[in-house]
Amino acid sequence: MKILVPIKRVVDYNVKVRVAADGSGVDTQGVKMSMNPFDEIAVEEGIRLRESGAAKEVVVVTIGAQAAQDVLRTAMAMGADRAILVKTDDTLEPRAVANALKAVIERENPSIVSMGKQAIDDDMNATGQILAAKLNWPQATFASKVVVNGDKAEVTREIDGGTATFAVPLPAIITADLRLNEPRYASLPNIMKARKKPLETIELESLGVDTASRLTTISVAEPAERQAGVMVSSVAELVEKLKTEAKVI
Ligand SMILES: Cc1cc2nc3c(=O)[nH]c(=O)nc-3n(C[C@H](O)[C@H](O)[C@H](O)COP(=O)(O)OP(=O)(O)OC[C@H]3O[C@@H](n4cnc5c(N)ncnc54)[C@H](O)[C@@H]3O)c2cc1C
Repeated sequence: MKILVPIKRVVDYNVKVRVAADGSGVDTQGVKMSMNPFDEIAVEEGIRLRESGAAKEVVVVTIGAQAAQDVLRTAMAMGADRAILVKTDDTLEPRAVANALKAVIERENPSIVSMGKQAIDDDMNATGQILAAKLNWPQATFASKVVVNGDKAEVTREIDGGTATFAVPLPAIITADLRLNEPRYASLPNIMKARKKPLETIELESLGVDTASRLTTISVAEPAERQAGVMVSSVAELVEKLKTEAKVI
C-alpha cells in the first residue's frame, strides 16, 4: 500500500507574522519558512503506518516554488521514501491545489492520502474535503487516531464531549488533527541520507488542470490592539467593576 502526503511550505509557526503594508497578505520577505505543522503530523502518521507494516511506501508532494524543496527534504529526513515537487510560482487556493493533487493521485494511485486538516497560513480547512469530493473518495477529517484494517481505515476524531470512530473503505482521504501523533525530529544522519532520496519535479502547467483563482483577498488586517489591563486591590472592587464598568454581571 502506498501513502501520499501533501505538504505545504508556510511561515514557521514560531514567527510572529506581519501583515504587508498594503493589506494584501502576510509579509514573507526574509521570514523563516517550514512545513505546515499539521502536515508534519500527516507525514509522521504515514511513516508509522509503513513501520507497522500497513504500508510499503510514503510519497510526499508539494505544490509550490523551487524553494519548497526544503520541506520535501525535511519530510524525507523524517522517513518519507521519495518526493514530488509540482512547481509553480503562483499562490494557489484550495480548489486549484485539489485539482493539481488529483492529477498527481491519478499517476501515483495511493491507497491513503494523509494530509493536514488545515494550513496555518490561510486556515482554509478546505483542501482535503475538496480533494475527496473531486476524487469521489471517502474522507475522514480531523483524525486523532488511525488504524488500518485490511481494505479499510478506522479513524477516530474528537467531538464535543468525547470521540467518534468511523470506518472508511480505502482509498480514502484522512486529514490530521493535532493529537494524532508527535512528529519525530529529523536526525543529522537522516538529513544527510534524505539528500540522496529521489525528488521529482513536475511543472504545474504540464498537469493540464484548472488552477485559476476564484477567490480574491479583499484585505488582511492585524487584530485590534488589546487595551491595557487594570489592577484591582480587592475582590470587592473587581466585582464592582464587573457590575458597573464591564456590565457582565
Ligand atoms: C475538540 C473541540 C474543541 C472545540 N473548541 C471550541 C472552542 O474553543 N470554541 C468554539 O467556539 N468552538 C469550539 N468547538 C466547536 C464547537 O463545539 C462545535 O463543534 C461547533 O459549534 C460546530 O457545531 P457542529 O458540530 O454542530 O457543526 P456542523 O454540524 O458542521 O454544523 C455547522 C453548520 O452547518 C449547517 N448545518 C449543519 N447541519 C445542517 C442541517 N441538517 N441543515 C441545515 N444546516 C445545517 C449549520 O449552519 C450549522 O451551524 C470545538 C469542537 C471540538 C470538537
